[in-house]
Amino acid sequence: MQFSNDFDLLPMEYGGSLEPPRAFPSRDGLRRKCLEGGDIEQYRPMLLSIFRQSPSGQLVLGAAGDILMINCAAYELLGLDEEISDEVTWQEIKGLKDLRAQDGSFLDETKDPLFLAMHRKKHVSASVHVRATDTKEERWLSVMAFPILDEQGNVEASAAMLLDITAFKEMQDILYYQATHDSLTGLSNRAFFSSSVGKAFSRSRRNRLGCAILAIDLDKFKEVNDRYGHAAGDELLVKVAKKLEQEVRDTDLVARMGGDEFCILLTDITGDENKNVGEIAGRICEKFSEPLQIMGHAMDISVSIGVVLFPKDGLDERTLLKKADAAMYRVKQSGRNNWKFWEESDSVSEL
Ligand code: GH3
Ligand code: MG
Repeated sequence: MQFSNDFDLLPMEYGGSLEPPRAFPSRDGLRRKCLEGGDIEQYRPMLLSIFRQSPSGQLVLGAAGDILMINCAAYELLGLDEEISDEVTWQEIKGLKDLRAQDGSFLDETKDPLFLAMHRKKHVSASVHVRATDTKEERWLSVMAFPILDEQGNVEASAAMLLDITAFKEMQDILYYQATHDSLTGLSNRAFFSSSVGKAFSRSRRNRLGCAILAIDLDKFKEVNDRYGHAAGDELLVKVAKKLEQEVRDTDLVARMGGDEFCILLTDITGDENKNVGEIAGRICEKFSEPLQIMGHAMDISVSIGVVLFPKDGLDERTLLKKADAAMYRVKQSGRNNWKFWEESDSVSEL
């Protein structure tokens, strides 16, 4: 499940200063150990053990992308097997394990946190997707990379810490889905519809193709609940959602706005938009002329639809939804089971 999500909990990168703080109160004690490494010579074997035994992956690349050091955790997180050659480069591992950035693009030098850390002389953090071409195993890694500088401040190498964040990413996907979808029908919800409308309008301005919004409300739906029960009403809403989805292209968006209200966003409308959009609205009304089979009952259901066009009827979502609702209520007043375009005479003030 890959979302182009707006809920990016792990930013692509963050910068951090590599300079140690210049002023510090004392050169003694823990602070000194922190800045100068303490009696580092004494702990050299332990340092090696820390590197080897760390549960987080540790990886050090030379400036040309050759692997200078790698610990067992990194070896496993990257899914490397015993056959892999000593001479393998980071570039080759990226190809073999199909490492990709969060947006799905290959980790070339402009996206690779290890190379970016070297080029920018900064800490760089990124989420990286691994899909082993051999075992097909997939996982998400958090890669925190930083450059290693020599005494003159030249970049010698790049080091990275790798953490498995697959469980975190899966939870993020679940939360994102729940925040953007209606749990009953699986359609997009009002929040997702609103965020998509803004993007669709911007695209429409760029490519000069029209958009339309259809506000759809079921007619006398309360009677279904009253007569057959709430569970039957729920099942009907699910079937209506499926029917609406079947009537539009994959690139259009069907959303449940709440209760028995649905909205459809039609995009990339070419040619005579009045004619084309009118045909779609008419076809949707027509599709509900057949009764729906719900829990062994044949139920007659119809819809009322108000239609607005972007940019002709308005330039923002709020105005357009109000007008689409006003047109839809006018259809209700004139006997339901029909559709109409918004007109000036469909007052919006009473909504
Ligand atoms: P109208 O033709 O004027 O639209 O009449 P209506 O009976 O469809 O009335 P309205 O659209 O105002 O009300 C929709 C009803 O949908 C109200 C509520 O009882 C019912 N409803 C809202 N959400 C749900 C739901 O999730 N499941 C079920 N079964 N019913 C719901
Ligand atoms: Mg209704």
